[in-house]
Amino acid sequence: MLHTLKTFFGYDSFRPGQEEIVRQVLQGHDALVLMPTGGGKSICYQLPALLSEGTTVVVSPLISLMKDQVESLCANGIAAGALNSGNEESVNAQLRRRCIEGKLKLLYISPERLMVESAYLFHEMEISLFAIDEAHCISQWGHDFRPEYAQLGILREQFPKVPIMALTATADKITREDIVRQLHLRQPYVHIASFDRPNLSLDVKRGYRKPERDRTIVEFIRRHNEGCGIIYCLSRKTCESVSLMLDKAGIRSAVYHAGLSAERRNAAQEDFINDRVQVVCATIAFGMGIDKSNVRWVIHYNMPKSIENFYQEIGRAGRDGLPSDTMLFYSLADIIQLTQFVQESGQRDINQEKLERMQQYAEAGICRRRILLSYFGEAIDRDCGNCDVCRNPPQRFDGTIIVQKALSALVRADQQIGSQVLVDILRGNFSPEVKQKGYDSLKTFGQGRDVPARDWQDYLIQMLQYGYIEIAYNENHHLKVTPAGADVLYGRAQAWLVVIRREENALSSRGKKKKGIGGQSAEASLFATSPLAGAEELYDALRSLRKRLADQDGLPPYIVFSDKVLHLLVQQRPTTLEAFGQINGIGEFKKKKYGREFVDLIRQMTS
Ligand code: ADP
Ligand code: ZN
Repeated sequence: MLHTLKTFFGYDSFRPGQEEIVRQVLQGHDALVLMPTGGGKSICYQLPALLSEGTTVVVSPLISLMKDQVESLCANGIAAGALNSGNEESVNAQLRRRCIEGKLKLLYISPERLMVESAYLFHEMEISLFAIDEAHCISQWGHDFRPEYAQLGILREQFPKVPIMALTATADKITREDIVRQLHLRQPYVHIASFDRPNLSLDVKRGYRKPERDRTIVEFIRRHNEGCGIIYCLSRKTCESVSLMLDKAGIRSAVYHAGLSAERRNAAQEDFINDRVQVVCATIAFGMGIDKSNVRWVIHYNMPKSIENFYQEIGRAGRDGLPSDTMLFYSLADIIQLTQFVQESGQRDINQEKLERMQQYAEAGICRRRILLSYFGEAIDRDCGNCDVCRNPPQRFDGTIIVQKALSALVRADQQIGSQVLVDILRGNFSPEVKQKGYDSLKTFGQGRDVPARDWQDYLIQMLQYGYIEIAYNENHHLKVTPAGADVLYGRAQAWLVVIRREENALSSRGKKKKGIGGQSAEASLFATSPLAGAEELYDALRSLRKRLADQDGLPPYIVFSDKVLHLLVQQRPTTLEAFGQINGIGEFKKKKYGREFVDLIRQMTS
């Protein structure tokens, strides 16, 4: 098993769980595999496919996912193909022939296509294993139910001897039981991996207004050098405006949302996969169909509606296991808008609950990873050290006067204002609404001038968190003082607020891209630990070579080599083909195909 793993995939060892899963399947057992995105699920069926007679049939819901997998298998010299309606009929016919002749090791197929082929083709070929990817799609309880998946139950009946493996990255207990029942798995070997993704850093930015948010994003992206990433936005409009903002900053981006034609969406996805744009500004719809392993960061421009969504979306970063950064912006406006969605949605109670849990994450004063993992039913016994709370534990101060000022202004305006106008009153801004309603004659007008507007936004979020104010959703989102707030206002209780810490935006010039907010990017810190000189230059050169070779074959660069492999090349600097082949992640096929050029380049740059 290890030998095959090294020869074809270039890996020196198994990830936790993989070896036992492969062994169980080779012994003919069914299996249920739960691993987080990037956990290494594919090897669990690809290796048995290579070690068995016949063909492994992989069921996958999306053509783009199949394409990605097939490309990466072929790039390792493994006979694989995808049977789907996007192909020319002659291609499909040839694939069928290769299946019947037993020449194809892995056949990818959509569930609807499978229903057609199972009656004919499947009886003419030798099937070693059925692997059902994204198996949670079979369950109505899951968040991604697909009716076509419900029909997969026939496989057991029609092919009782073929083992079945179900794989997914998201499945709670009910969904899990549903998968086993509907696929008729027989006492499956169950592997549930930890959902922790320690290589993803977690960071939340609270109450940033637009200009600040934009500046922070541009600096964050520059800090990541060429590293690419995704910015998730709540609305199509925001996607467009963020993309425009990046354009102005000289950062290449594409837009992806449901309002665009399928063609344009496809083009955006292709540009991203092939490293032709650095950033995609997307609504949540983006990402399902991509396996791009070198996504170096994910930003949430707005707060997502649940922790499941959030975790799935940040999970698209760092699939190759390298350090990757995530950043979530969180504002009062988001809460208002998301609550509105919840009110209008079909399942109000559940959605409200989910939104509140998401909000708790964003507002957390304890290690954020602990909150995430406990949400998924996993406990860790220590703080992670890789989130903003761990790095900068919040400090509190007596904020009674600040809270009193805000509440007093609110009461004097008859509690008929939203947060924006409240800040205008506190700051003494003569905004149109202030003038129209005569708020400028209130005693509190301008009483909070000493606090910047952006800090007021932050304090208001905190006041909401502590329950001093609430939002009246049925009254134009006006703010109301709660009984707890009244206690503070009338001096019966003290209010403790969290000190606002803003990294000073010391840098704005490109030259300093490696320093700044929050220190270094994950990638930059990696170079810092490399004792060898010229690490960055070598990395850039290797990346250019990878891009050129990828373009030659019309492949995405990460399929040629992952970022992880490039990092290892920088660290180990192999100058012979032999040493090149030893690198974790380089198999025989790629060694022969690409070795010469990479080794020459390394020699040239290090001599
Ligand atoms: P998943 O399908 O669970 O999201 P993948 O199967 O795509 O994850 O694997 C994620 C990444 O981890 C890929 O880049 C893959 O090549 C890598 N990987 C998988 N198994 C190993 C291993 N044993 N050693 C090193 N890297 C691995
Ligand atoms: Zn932490």
